[in-house]
This record gives sequence, structure tokens and C-alpha cells, in this order.
Amino acid sequence: MAVEVMISEEEISKRISELGAKITNDYAGEELVVVGVLNGAFMFVADLIRKINVPVRLEFMAVASYSGTESTGEIKVNLDLKESIRGKNVLVVEDIVDTGLTIKTLRGILQQKGPKSLRLASLLYKPARNIHKVEIDYLAFEIEDRFVIGYGLDFDGKYRELPYIGVYSHG
Ligand code: 5GP
Repeated sequence: MAVEVMISEEEISKRISELGAKITNDYAGEELVVVGVLNGAFMFVADLIRKINVPVRLEFMAVASYSGTESTGEIKVNLDLKESIRGKNVLVVEDIVDTGLTIKTLRGILQQKGPKSLRLASLLYKPARNIHKVEIDYLAFEIEDRFVIGYGLDFDGKYRELPYIGVYSHG
């Protein structure tokens, strides 16, 4: 098994610069709380905030879905926000929106905390598997339905360190 490059380091970097410029423009004169969703989004959020040119406060959350509760959308918050987001502009940064369950549920939890605005940035989106409709305000790449690794995304805890997004290939 070899890893085939799906999206190169250069393509990722170029796209993140574009998203950063758009976010900077959209939040001009405002402050932003960026919430990186661990573990998968750690690399994306690190690169993205370096391209955002408004004052940023960085927070992290870690969530896991309870097994067997896909329909109810219950998720367990393993790491929560340190400070209040009431009245703040919040930008959630995810690695991938697949079925959409995680982000839909997380969005609901954050909305209840009374932010001034709540938007979503995602590195990847797989439309083929999407069940729970979610609006992605800042999307880097739409991809076909293949299991991807690298640039923060893991397979069994490994490959997060790859600087590109890849898929397994036979050969
Ligand atoms: P959702 O709740 O949208 O179905 O799932 C989102 C989560 O599933 C992501 O945060 C990620 O952890 C995992 N996931 C979905 N598709 C992939 C994939 O292709 N590769 C990896 N490594 N994780 C994925």
C-alpha cells in the first residue's frame, strides 16, 4: 500500500491564503474567536489563523460521537471552551464534513452559548456522504467519497503529520 497525493502541499497553501483573505475581509474591524476542532483540524487551524489579519483568540474543542446514536446526534464534549463566547464572532474550524452529524450537533451546542455570529470553516467536504445539511461558510476543498489521510487527518491515529492530503493506493 502506498499513499497517493490527492491535494498537494502547494494547493493547500494557496487555498488557505485565499480563505484567509476572505475571512480577513469579512471580519474587518471585528475580533474573532477561532475554535479548532481536535484532533483533525490542528494543522489546518494553525495555517489558517496565520492568514487571518484581524485579532484572533484561539480555542480548541474535542468532541466524539457516542457509538450507536447517529440518528439522535449526541456527541460527547471531551474538551470544552475555556472562555465565554457570548456576544463574540465565532469561527469553528473543522477538518472534514462527512455525514455532517458532528458539525450540526456542535453548531447547536455553540449556538446556545449566545455568540454574536457563528460560522464554519472546513478543510474538506464530501457531498456524497452528506446527510445532515450544514452550511460551510469557508470551504477549502470538495472531494469525492474516498477515505483521506494527512494534513491532520488520521488512519488509526497515524499519518496526521503528512503535509499533503492523500489516499491509499494499491501498488
Ligand atoms: P461526520 O460527523 O461529518 O460524519 O464526520 C466527521 C468526522 O469523521 C471528521 O471530523 C473525521 O474525524 C471523520 N472522517 C470522515 N471522513 C474521513 C476521512 O475521509 N478521513 C479521515 N481521516 N477521517 C474522516
